[in-house]
Amino acid sequence: MTEKTQQILALNAFDGTSTAALAPDVAVLVERRRRSFGATSVLFYEEPLHVVTGRGTRLITADGTACLDLYNNVPSVGHCHPRVVAAVQDQVARLNIHTRYLFDVVHDYAEKLLATFPAPLDKAIFTCTGSESNDFALRLARLATGGMGVVVTETAYHGNTTAVTEVSPSSYKHGRPPAHVRTVPAPHPSNYGADVAGGFAAAVEAAIDAMAADGIAVAALLCDSIFSSDGVYADPPGFLAAAVDRVRARGGLFIADEVQPGFGRTGAGMWGFARHGVVPDVVTMGKPMGNGLPIAGVVTRADLLERFAGEFGYFNTFGGNPVASAAALAVLDVIAEEGLVANAARVGGRLAGELRTLSKARPAIGEVRGAGLYLGVDIVDPATGAADPAAATRLINQLRARRVLIGAAGPLGHVLKIRSPLCLSDADVDLFLEALADCPF
Ligand code: PMP
Repeated sequence: MTEKTQQILALNAFDGTSTAALAPDVAVLVERRRRSFGATSVLFYEEPLHVVTGRGTRLITADGTACLDLYNNVPSVGHCHPRVVAAVQDQVARLNIHTRYLFDVVHDYAEKLLATFPAPLDKAIFTCTGSESNDFALRLARLATGGMGVVVTETAYHGNTTAVTEVSPSSYKHGRPPAHVRTVPAPHPSNYGADVAGGFAAAVEAAIDAMAADGIAVAALLCDSIFSSDGVYADPPGFLAAAVDRVRARGGLFIADEVQPGFGRTGAGMWGFARHGVVPDVVTMGKPMGNGLPIAGVVTRADLLERFAGEFGYFNTFGGNPVASAAALAVLDVIAEEGLVANAARVGGRLAGELRTLSKARPAIGEVRGAGLYLGVDIVDPATGAADPAAATRLINQLRARRVLIGAAGPLGHVLKIRSPLCLSDADVDLFLEALADCPF
């Protein structure tokens, strides 16, 4: 067992030193990929997966094997959902160009999306990635406050632009974020005792004090409200509110990164921040928005946008293009028509309950956390209860061999991360629990 903090892309990564043990067709693709993409290319699993198609909660590999997908939240309403496929096919056959013209579908989507937000969040900007959304949010916050400082959690990930990498401590292999970025421990009793809300708020305030002492004013508290890369921390609902009050009292904004918890995943409405009873100043969105089409965005207040527009223009050539908007509109329709928020609450709640029961018989399964269909499960040394990232990695590969796809999270990589498409069924849960029970770890 190691206690070393893992860089986020190292979790469940193919180590790449040898392709000798791989199936010949997989080895060929791995070699081709290495030749084309070089040192930054990352793949999952000891034996990378060659996927060709998908449907619902299943990913199908080149040899025709159907794998239960508990990992991918990008195809949020299910792989290749027929409604989304049809919407994309229809729009791409009509027109897809940049966004400085008028399009019905883009305006239909913006209005439908904004209707899911509380006042005063009534303006949308479309981008292509969560990183671009967070980058834009930082620009809004810095202009509005005149501050530069950002508070994030210790293992946060918010994306890959220059500015956003600085607020993503989990991206660093060496060194730390710059002085204008301060980190606070993840919101869990092991860090703050029983009063997580009070402890987390005090830590945020201390971080603001520390940057102020160095002459840096706070611009924002930036949180993924399910704290996914930190290891999935959802409870108690409402704990974020006190920290948001503190940052606002010090002149900063609250940016809610909804790339992970957004679009119904927590089972408690469309947005993760709602579980905390807060209305952010800026909300950023990404991955699940277009069921695989690159569409992402920012929702905020008119005054913050006006302040920004007084200084800069913003145009994103592909952001919210008609094909991506058609996909995103279909996603909102499917979430509503198939009752996927309620499904996330019910099936996710059942899965969490079953995992907690299993953990009594199987002490290597530790704490189960999360909300809806975003669960984190600690894998621990049964003797000591200490985090066991090596066992988590073994388990992930054993599940892969049993046709169940799952990932890891947390600073050490010992937290199983469960975030399937939102259409996960009871039969899928049964299949997963059977596979899990069969894994030796
Ligand atoms: N924020 C969070 C919380 C994320 O998990 C991610 C992606 N994993 C991003 C932002 C960045 O999104 P993208 O990869 O689309 O740039």
